[in-house]
Amino acid sequence: MKNIKKKKIINSKNILTIIEKYKSPLWIYNFKTIKKQILKLKKFDTIRFAQKACSNINILKIMKKYGVKVDAVSLGEIERALRAGFKGNSDDIIYTSDIIEKNTLKKVISLKIPINIGSIDMIKTIGKKSKNHLIWLRINPGFGYGHSKKTNTGGKNSKHGIWNVKLALKLIKKYNLNLIGLHMHIGSGVDYINLKKVCKAMIKSAILINKKISFISAGGGLTIPYKIHDKKINIKNYYKIWNKSRKKISKFLKCPIKLEIEPGRFLVAQSGLLVSKIESIKKVKNRIFVLVNVGFNELIRPVLYGSYHYISILPKNNRKINKKKLIKAIIGGPLCESGDIFTQKENQKIYSIKIPKVKKGDYIIFHDTGAYGSSMSSNYNSRPLIPEILFKKKKILQIRRRQTIKEMLSLEDLIL
Ligand SMILES: *Cc1c(COP(=O)(O)O)cnc(C)c1O
Repeated sequence: MKNIKKKKIINSKNILTIIEKYKSPLWIYNFKTIKKQILKLKKFDTIRFAQKACSNINILKIMKKYGVKVDAVSLGEIERALRAGFKGNSDDIIYTSDIIEKNTLKKVISLKIPINIGSIDMIKTIGKKSKNHLIWLRINPGFGYGHSKKTNTGGKNSKHGIWNVKLALKLIKKYNLNLIGLHMHIGSGVDYINLKKVCKAMIKSAILINKKISFISAGGGLTIPYKIHDKKINIKNYYKIWNKSRKKISKFLKCPIKLEIEPGRFLVAQSGLLVSKIESIKKVKNRIFVLVNVGFNELIRPVLYGSYHYISILPKNNRKINKKKLIKAIIGGPLCESGDIFTQKENQKIYSIKIPKVKKGDYIIFHDTGAYGSSMSSNYNSRPLIPEILFKKKKILQIRRRQTIKEMLSLEDLIL
């Protein structure tokens, strides 16, 4: 695979300063990129950040500062949103799920957080406990689209959303719930033909419902160019298609309809870098394995989906490297697991990339890792969570410190 130069979001000198202060490995987010991405969506009435993409409370605060609202899919995410200053008794936070656990239900009711309902059972659970609760319906239109099977969120193989809208309506009436919006999140990726299909399905659902509502949501799934030649999404076009549907629905239901969008990846992916250090360069027969100090416990996307992340090299102490002399290398991590390879495809086949001749101690940087990077990381192999750094107007801010091994072990009491 070719490794063509990608636009830098933070210059090497700043990255080296950050490493010097906080040590590798670490995540870096560039504030400016997040702001730029938010502004691209300003035509929508509401931008709602799907915080599962990157849920650090400081990132949520940036969202809040620029008028972005937030989606929560768990009690933990509700608590994060509250910590960042989002309020209950408003539509600051919407809880989206196909299930609702007891503690979450309690919180959602006490703070009057609107719920985007994805299953018939959930309608019953809420209906029994909270009359007139504000709800949305997340509808499965019967088809889906996504960058991989695992991110496809519609169709009969998807567990998400409501299939039987008529039954949902019957129950909403029975329990006196207050339906305010319709939601369709059809997975990650944008293809305009598919999008038109989604919009049509949304109009159809609105006609079926035939009752005044206030919102429709286009869900998330806006792509970003991970590869150099990946096409960028045309937001103008995307908005135009949705806005047309909004107008049709508004006309049919004879009420104003607000248009929401609910991106995760689009707002944060490109702001993020994962910085790792080369710990070993191993020759195995005719192959070269470059092993770094992060594994799939930090960045799982390549292993989970075969996702591609652009990789660049940062030489230690600004050593000059010959960019013409390239080697073919497989990039792997430290985990005791042979699948711990960053250069692999969806079918788990590993491949080499061309990189300059590196040395132990140089840094390898994984680009576009602001979404589903840190938020998907784990303690696998008992490796503590690594720091998150925000680069904001030349300031270096640590927005999450490194977890200590002591903290990691503190949940377990020695009782035997
Ligand atoms: C994950 C998710 C999103 C965001 O998806 P992206 O591909 O990151 O834009 C939006 N809405 C819901 C309900 C989700 O589950």
